[in-house]
Amino acid sequence: MIIGIDDTDSKDGMCTTYLAAVLIEKLKTYGTPGGYPLLVRLNPNIKYKTRGNAALALCIELNNKEDAGKVKSSVISTVEDMAVFSDDNTNPGVVFIERTTPQMQDDLSLFSMRAVQDVLKIREALELLEKHGISYRGYKNKRGLIGALAAAGFALCGLPDFTFELIAYREREKWGTPRQIDEGSVREAASTPGTWDTVDYENKRIVFAPHSPDPILFGIRGESESAVRQAFSKVKSEPVERHIVYKTNQNTDMHLIPARISDVRSCRSYILEGRVSKPPRTIEGGHVIFELSDGSRTLECAAFEPTKGFRGIIRKLRTGDEVTVYGSVKDNTLNLEKIRIISLNTYESRNPICCGKRMKSMGRGQGYRCEKCNTKSKEPVTEIVQRDISPGFYEVPPSARRHLAKPLVRDRMIEAASSCARSRASIPPACQPVREKILF
Ligand code: ATP
Repeated sequence: MIIGIDDTDSKDGMCTTYLAAVLIEKLKTYGTPGGYPLLVRLNPNIKYKTRGNAALALCIELNNKEDAGKVKSSVISTVEDMAVFSDDNTNPGVVFIERTTPQMQDDLSLFSMRAVQDVLKIREALELLEKHGISYRGYKNKRGLIGALAAAGFALCGLPDFTFELIAYREREKWGTPRQIDEGSVREAASTPGTWDTVDYENKRIVFAPHSPDPILFGIRGESESAVRQAFSKVKSEPVERHIVYKTNQNTDMHLIPARISDVRSCRSYILEGRVSKPPRTIEGGHVIFELSDGSRTLECAAFEPTKGFRGIIRKLRTGDEVTVYGSVKDNTLNLEKIRIISLNTYESRNPICCGKRMKSMGRGQGYRCEKCNTKSKEPVTEIVQRDISPGFYEVPPSARRHLAKPLVRDRMIEAASSCARSRASIPPACQPVREKILF
């Protein structure tokens, strides 16, 4: 049985991952977990989200098929006990997938992907649930069914790319109090190979622990279960009530859709190629904005204040630079998560020089005149400008990273692992190690 759950928490406390962690324990009576619990991040631009738009799915191999009813009752009573129903914006949803068909798999794999990349209606979730006879429980306006069905869909159809997060939870009496975590041990944990975003080195901040009053003590993200467990073993902190390793679509860029600017719609996330058509400017609040054009249309791209040093890179762009931008679009502005500078415009059109000084423009299209000797020139001159930035990828710091955004360090790990696999493939099979182990 696959159980999908969403929308149980509020800004003032609780967290759907904690509810899932409690359920994992309770459901052990009825069977064994079928794989990792899934922590799925959905469209980061959904206005109803509490924080990170997370939804959860658990898979259980029942000891006894007759226990299905008991499992459903246990899940429903746990949700009814723990969800913050008093919050207007909390609309819990739970779904139970007990059997599947190829048509259901096709429909759910599309629905789940759309939940990450698009904006869905509650009606769409209800129609699919009815069409495939999936049992469910939706509370209040039932919006949580969207996330619950999407998470269950990923559990059924698989995640195209995934990472892991070990979440450690606090003892109940500590909820809402400052977290006690030894900083030195966190720095040591952060250096564990195959993990990322524990510490923001550039901004000298520990970023793996939230500041909200929820049950989470901290979360460690990484490429494998062993990597996150190894890092976890190094952290010294207040007592951990329980911890769970989730399989997740975090840090996979799953939300990004390659597109042309003319196809962009608000509340979706994109990969867009183009040229800087208006240079960067800093606006009130310290946000840096430039205009991108791809011939089909133009779009403003923003490095917002929380992206800190990343803004310094964006400020160095010039009109004509060729770039690929990655991020979500809202209010006709793309919120930059990362950028690839493909080529730099190193040419600049300037007034010609005469008598050791720049000639004066005589007005638009009128040419130039030397103020000293009156020499005239029709055309400007093209000069080479030095740039103090290089082509390549640049990203926001960990403290400003969105859950779904793939950090560059992860790309480097994947590249290192595949080149390691390529070089192993070139060794005759008899020489290959018996147990494969990829070291990041
Ligand atoms: P937390 O991450 O702290 O658990 P949250 O940020 O996940 O909280 P929710 O409380 O789950 O936020 O609220 C998000 C709501 O938006 C849910 O009801 C979910 O079903 C719905 N939702 C998620 N993705 C989409 C989507 N693509 N289109 C429409 N609704 C969505």
